[in-house]
Amino acid sequence: MELSRKIMSIRPSATLAVTAKAKDLKAAGKDVIAFAAGEPDFDTPENIRQAGIDAINSGFTRYTAAPGIIELRKAICDKLKNDNNMEYDPSQIIVCNGAKHALANTFMAILNDGDEVIIPAPFWVSYSAMVEIAGGKPVIVYTKAENNFMLSKEDLEGAYTDKTKAIVLVSPSNPTGMIASRENLQAIADFAVEKDLLVIADEIYEKLIYNKNKKHISIGSLNKEIFDRTITINGVSKSYAMTGWRIGYVAAPPAVAKCINVIQSHMASNANAIAQKAALEAITGPQDSVELMRQQFEKRCDYIFEREEEIPYISALKPEGAFYLFVDISGTCGKKYKGTEIKNAADFATLLLDNKLTAVVPCADFGMENYIRLSYAISLDDIKKGMDRLAEFVSELE
Ligand code: PMP
Ligand code: GLU
Repeated sequence: MELSRKIMSIRPSATLAVTAKAKDLKAAGKDVIAFAAGEPDFDTPENIRQAGIDAINSGFTRYTAAPGIIELRKAICDKLKNDNNMEYDPSQIIVCNGAKHALANTFMAILNDGDEVIIPAPFWVSYSAMVEIAGGKPVIVYTKAENNFMLSKEDLEGAYTDKTKAIVLVSPSNPTGMIASRENLQAIADFAVEKDLLVIADEIYEKLIYNKNKKHISIGSLNKEIFDRTITINGVSKSYAMTGWRIGYVAAPPAVAKCINVIQSHMASNANAIAQKAALEAITGPQDSVELMRQQFEKRCDYIFEREEEIPYISALKPEGAFYLFVDISGTCGKKYKGTEIKNAADFATLLLDNKLTAVVPCADFGMENYIRLSYAISLDDIKKGMDRLAEFVSELE
């Protein structure tokens, strides 16, 4: 029987695939270091866990309104106003099962068959897959390291067609760790307004910033015209170490929010009720744990970058935020490890895992054949061990 042709052409998530492989090896007793999925190693802060326990104990275990409980949607509006300088009404907020689900809902809500979405490469693997699943066409635009992997006006002009519907923007970026400046954002905003496009702004890493000269700016805060065409995505997974609770949200223009509500009401009903209560505590409770975790990530960022800089044949930009180091391995292509030639990042990652038990994400599915991504959301000890192994691996190339 022929199953969905659309789905058969899409590969499973590369980040989750590498993580699953590393977990299998660990379960088999191997001492694997996994620079794999971007998932904070910290426990969810105690006050947030307690809010979840309280929700269960008080019987808060039933369906909620499809877009989420009103207290949480109001709290999200307050957060978006105070942190991001954008004024939303709770009717414009839909709480979803993670930011990934918020994005998937969004693409389904805005795309008709064949509509094009501009995605700057390197890109987080799931954007293009989600666009395809929703019937759209990802239009990949290759950015350059010398431009901090940011989109320029010329890039946008080159990618635009009369089918273009939206532009994806993620800052701080997964996988590059770069942060868009006000000028970068203004160029995208001006283009979107001029061509009547939507902007999908993924702000999931907004609180994880290490470059003292950079701050997070929401594109939707630049002016009213761009606010009216921006769909802001965020969630609690990364800032509050809540990946497993699965709470993300979308803040959208009223017509888009309405469509997302329809989809969510039919396809998911609502996000987990208990996790919504925990997310409410995360957003409205004490914020000191966010800063403590950020400081730990910053130390790890400094350390991993310093170590990477000492290794020959590979190079990276110093990450400004998020928790990824995006490494160009093209200098190792053509070299051999114990007789096997490295042709691209996939070969590099396979040889590194098989021989040094160190998992990294090869970035072909992020649009870049010769890059690997290292998530440094793991302990400093593990980072040290993993970088020792990476250095040893590269030193053994011939
Ligand atoms: N956007 C980006 C850029 C991400 O890296 C991730 C990682 N999971 C997500 C969205 C989805 O996050 P969530 O865990 O909330 O689904
Ligand atoms: N976003 C994280 C990553 O890029 C988690 C895994 C995923 O959802 O892709 O590794």
